[in-house]
Formats: sequence, structure tokens, C-alpha cells
Amino acid sequence: MRLSRYFLPVTKDAPADAAIASHKLMLRTGMVRQNGAGIYSWLPMGFRVLKKIEQIVREEMDRAGAVEMLMPTLQQADLWRESGRYEAYGKEMLRIQDRHERDMLYGPTNEELVTDVFRSYVKSYKQLPLVLYHQQWKFRDEVRPRFGVMRGREFLMKDAYSFDLTEEDARVSYRKMFCAYLNAFGRMGLTAVPMRADTGPIGGDMSHEFIILADTGESAVFCDKALLDMPAPGLDLDFDGDLTAEVEKRTQYYAATEEMHDADAFAALPADRQVSARGIEVGHIFNFGTKYSVPMNAVVQTTDGQMVPVQMGSYGIGVSRLVGGIIEACHDENGIVWPESVAPWQVGLINMRVGDAACDAVCERIYQALQAAGREVLYDDTDERAGGKFARMDLIGLPWQTTVGPRGVADGKVEVKNRKTGEKHEVSIEDMLNQLD
Ligand code: ATP
Ligand code: MG
Ligand code: MG
Ligand code: MG
Repeated sequence: MRLSRYFLPVTKDAPADAAIASHKLMLRTGMVRQNGAGIYSWLPMGFRVLKKIEQIVREEMDRAGAVEMLMPTLQQADLWRESGRYEAYGKEMLRIQDRHERDMLYGPTNEELVTDVFRSYVKSYKQLPLVLYHQQWKFRDEVRPRFGVMRGREFLMKDAYSFDLTEEDARVSYRKMFCAYLNAFGRMGLTAVPMRADTGPIGGDMSHEFIILADTGESAVFCDKALLDMPAPGLDLDFDGDLTAEVEKRTQYYAATEEMHDADAFAALPADRQVSARGIEVGHIFNFGTKYSVPMNAVVQTTDGQMVPVQMGSYGIGVSRLVGGIIEACHDENGIVWPESVAPWQVGLINMRVGDAACDAVCERIYQALQAAGREVLYDDTDERAGGKFARMDLIGLPWQTTVGPRGVADGKVEVKNRKTGEKHEVSIEDMLNQLD
């Protein structure tokens, strides 16, 4: 992408109401534009990052055997009356009437809709297990939308739903999602800690929130340091195998959000392993048994011909929240420091002297060669001052910067900088092009 033809509305200052680093940086780098409380337009660079995150989530859901679909944002109230949640959901639900005065709503989540899809087609245990998912915009009329996209009202969620014949099968599905979540967050450069979460009247141990630690997080969280040092299971994990050990490797350690906190159990940990911090909920997995299948009559035939309500679980990831969450975890005083996997482009190419024939020619060659080698490049070909270009490139935080200036070009060299470490080194232009060949 040539910056001169792109739309990257970078500004010097963020509005005063942006309270945390990620919100400020997203506004300053022109990633999003607020249209109303908790409602944002995704401007081109922000949209690129959102799509990258969405794609990682998709790949990890698919790897775990989930099947992608797309359900609508607008839903019929009648389905929610069946489950009893139309009244129960309260003011967070945005209620709408169509021209025929039918009650509708903008979905805050999709259990009812997906259960309706399921019961319409699936009748037998032979079609199980099944995990359906989509990535779709949700609306929740939050009391206090804040921190930019982290607590929006309209936000993008990946929500998956599992259907199983027995409680034990449902556990198997739960473990798959548990591991897939760790892999997905790991690929984004995050350490997300699964923490015991409230199961309400359903009870049991199958509810975990995935939390990334950040001083600006909204929840107080407590965990064993061992969990912060543990790598994700890895992309070669066999999802058809038994994942019990992989899950228990983590659940054996103490980790809980405020609501579930057991101060005595926490105090029993060695002092140097007690982590008491703030956290951001980036995902939540929850098995709720037959909570929806019973009232909505989603039943399947068992091996001996009986009809039983299907066991269900739901698995959410805050895709748009993650954009802010990743920046919260990955920035410094000069701006964003994107992990490679979600960076809008991997390389920023800076032409220090646009209009200088030699610089232009070298930039053009590098730009073409990088792209031919499959690298995503933002080429700063604007005629601004070099100082401003460096600051802007640091601000938008692409992992690699390649700078082309007249002095270097005369020596056949360009400078390559690693945004994260700040390390710079000179590279011969020929070596660089040969390497990319
Ligand atoms: P929170 O505790 O932050 O209000 P939640 O528990 O209500 O979140 P879930 O119903 O578990 O949210 O939804 C699944 C995921 O969707 C959450 O883990 C979070 O990452 C994301 N999410 C929820 N509410 C919002 C929001 N208002 N803005 C952005 N993302 C959200
Ligand atoms: Mg909420
Ligand atoms: Mg929550
Ligand atoms: Mg939750």
C-alpha cells in the first residue's frame, strides 16, 4: 500500500475523554472513529487489524472442528420468549419494532437463534457432536460504554455453540474450545489465563473466562504465576485425542476473577507465585447443559430410541475488544508495537527523500520485491519531512521499518529497524533483494 493513496488519518492528540493508552492510540492512528457512545466506524487500518484477528480466530476454531456459519444481527423476540430471556435480559437488550409492530431485537448473543437452527435439522445422536460458530456484530446497551472498542455497545464477537448427546461428550467439546482459545490468543502474542468463572444456578466447573493482564483491566483477578509462564498447547495439538491432561495442566493452578476469588486458597500459594492484578476478559467459555434445549425443545434421539434434550455450551471471543486489548499489552511511549501476526502490515518502507531519483528507484524495487515475497508493506511515499515520517511509523507500530535515504543509497545500503527492540542495522540493498528472491 502506498501511503500517498491510502486513508490513514493520524492526529497529533487524542480527545481528552480517551482515558487509556489503547483508546488514545486507536484514535490517534486513525483506526476507528466514534460515531456515537460505544459505536465506531472501523477506518482502513483498524479494519485490517480486525480482519487479522478474525482470521486467526477462524483458523483456530476450524482446527478444533467447529463449523462456520452466519446468523443475522436482528432477531425475532418470539424466540427469546421461548427461552424466557426476552424479559429477563433487561436494559442491555436493544429492542426494536418493525413496521408490522412485531417485536425484534439486535442480538446481544445467539443461544436462542442457534438452538432454533439446531432443532430444525438435527434429530439424532448420529449427527453429534456439532459445534457451530459465527463472527457477527452484537449490540449491548452497556450502562457505561468506555475505553473505546474494549467496552463498546456495538462490537464484534465470535460465538460458538456446542451440541452433544451426553454430559461427558459436552466436556470433550468444552476441552477442545479451551485449548483452541489458548492457541488463538497465543498466536496473537497474548498470554490469556483461563480463570474459573461463575456458573450461576447451573453450577459445575465448566465456565472459564480468558483474561489478559493489564493495569487498565476492568476486573480484579488473582492467579498463580505458573500460568503466566505456560505456553499455549501448540498448533500440532491433536483435537481428536484426549485433551484432559492439557486442560488440567492449567486448571490445577489457582486462577479466579473477583467473583470467584477464594482468599484463603490464594494466600496458601508461595508468596512469589501470588499474582494479584487487573485483567481484561477477552473470551468466555461456558457449558450450560440443557438450559436452552429444554424450554426450546431441542431434542435428539439416543442409541436406544429415546428423545433427550441436547447438551449445550457457548464460547465467546471479543474480537473487536481484542484490538484494544492487544494494544494495551503491546505499546510503548512512542506508539503501538504490533505482534507480527496481527500487524496491519509487517513492513513500513520509508522513503526519506521522495523525488530523489535514486531513492525513489530503490524504494520501488524493495516495495515490489517485498510484496512479491508475500510481505505486506506500507510504503511511505509522501513528501513530508523525514522526522515526521519516523514518528508516524513508530506510532502505527509496524514490526519492521526499512528506511531508504540518499546517503545510504549512495553506499548501496538501507537501514532496517525492529520496532519492538529498537535495534537498527544497515543492510546492503542487493543482499536484501536477493534474500527476498
Ligand atoms: P464483560 O464482563 O466485559 O461485560 P461479558 O461477560 O458480559 O463481558 P460475554 O457474554 O461473556 O461478555 O461475551 C463474550 C465476550 O464478548 C467477552 O468475553 C468479551 O470479550 C466480549 N464482550 C462482551 N461485552 C463486550 C462489549 N461491551 N464490548 C466489546 N466486547 C465485549
Ligand atoms: Mg457484560
Ligand atoms: Mg464478564
Ligand atoms: Mg463473560
